[in-house]
Amino acid sequence: MKNLVPVSLFESLEIPNLETHSQPTYALISVHGDPTAEIGKEGAGGQNIYVRELGLALAQKGCQVDIFTRREHPNQEEIVELAPGCRTIRLTAGPIKFVPRTELFEHLPEFVASWLNFQQQTGRNYALIHTNYWLSGWVGLQLKSQLGLPQVHTYHSIGAVKYRDEQNPPQIAAIRHCVEKTILEQIDCVISTSPQEVDDLRQLISQKGRIKIIPCGINTTHFSSVSQKIARQKLGISPDAQIILYVGRFDRRKGIETLVRSCAALPNSFQLYFVGGSREDGPDLQEQQRIQALVKKLGLEAVTVFTGQISQAQLPAYYAAANVCVVPSYYEPFGLVAIEAMAARTPVIASNVGGLQHTVVHGQTGLLVPPGNHHDLTKAISNVLDNPSLRQFYANAAYSWVQSRFSTQAVTNQIYELYQSLTLSTFVQEIIQTHNLTPNVEKQIQTLLKSKALKPSDIKALEKLVDSFSNGTVQWVNS
Ligand code: UDP
Repeated sequence: MKNLVPVSLFESLEIPNLETHSQPTYALISVHGDPTAEIGKEGAGGQNIYVRELGLALAQKGCQVDIFTRREHPNQEEIVELAPGCRTIRLTAGPIKFVPRTELFEHLPEFVASWLNFQQQTGRNYALIHTNYWLSGWVGLQLKSQLGLPQVHTYHSIGAVKYRDEQNPPQIAAIRHCVEKTILEQIDCVISTSPQEVDDLRQLISQKGRIKIIPCGINTTHFSSVSQKIARQKLGISPDAQIILYVGRFDRRKGIETLVRSCAALPNSFQLYFVGGSREDGPDLQEQQRIQALVKKLGLEAVTVFTGQISQAQLPAYYAAANVCVVPSYYEPFGLVAIEAMAARTPVIASNVGGLQHTVVHGQTGLLVPPGNHHDLTKAISNVLDNPSLRQFYANAAYSWVQSRFSTQAVTNQIYELYQSLTLSTFVQEIIQTHNLTPNVEKQIQTLLKSKALKPSDIKALEKLVDSFSNGTVQWVNS
């Protein structure tokens, strides 16, 4: 008997654009990172953007995506359609108000129960769950053990790194470590956003478990949509002003104090912009007030602007208007701000830590400096401000670098491929079950699956082929 049609033959089949098993439904879980939240304040930063952009891009590829998060306000709708195929589902778990992430763990069993309830009531069959941050990772572990779903996880931040230098880490740190270890060792695949994160996971969490490096992506078209000239007109900034920009939350680990001290020693004239807001009831307000007091003490009040939280729609103008964007973090797992600035053709000076070491190319797209050293930062900023031609060189290189590596499309393709490879066997079994196949054809498909010759990209072709067998268009011929 001959083998089933060789896999390479699939490529020659004409594939119709049908609703098929190859257009699966995925659940993204982001307990504390609502994709529709106001970004740039306590509790809402890069993770919210990451899940939203991923969900939207997967939906554009034809997938169905539900992003599960926790309801924080009674006025919030439970279900929001972000785009056709992509929804935010807000589940009730704990009080319907903002709860800091350090106090969310106790409400997670309720989140799991609400998720299962939603799934049963709607009859949605999820092919895979992708969890974000350790709290969602714990939720995913419970769902995986109950439903047997493949689980992918993105850490966004690792407790063992965050608390490494803290004398008195909070009580939750020990639980977090345990959960982060279980996630790495037991789930199907962890996505690390930088090689630095892989090293941290291997050294501080576990040698076991599968890790794949896929960086964060951004909507590069959006961030490169404004020229510096137009941006400055829009924001009322003079064409010859020297603008130093910080974008992000007010958090001690962001190293804003180092930036303020470095600016105080600059020989150049400049304006310093802080883009980012804070919650009235959050610790970020205290940090913002501390920074404002320092600005005053160092005599920078007249040249410093605190814009408050700026929407994603308005942000490209701030990036484009700046001469340099500074990311002075002491700890930064990835750092979306650095790639957003580079997409806007703005050179970046960043601390030589975490993911920033891999997103900013020293001497090409900007400069890397040691964290917490305001003398070195002063020199680096002055160097960039004093040299328009160097700045232009960095700006062009930064733009091309981000386009080629960090666009949402490029990153989503890699994540989609990973999802498909983890769900391939489930899809093939579904195809077999929903078609009336002879035992011979079924056996051949199982053999093909086991041989690992079948690739996720062959699924549509396989479905079409199986359709042809089951409706008699193609018949099996024994030799
Ligand atoms: N951001 C924003 N508005 C603001 C300040 C920040 O939308 O006023 C966004 C910014 O564009 C970026 C995110 O917040 O996408 C911050 O992400 P990053 O990874 O740099 O830091 P995180 O907040 O995750 O620590």
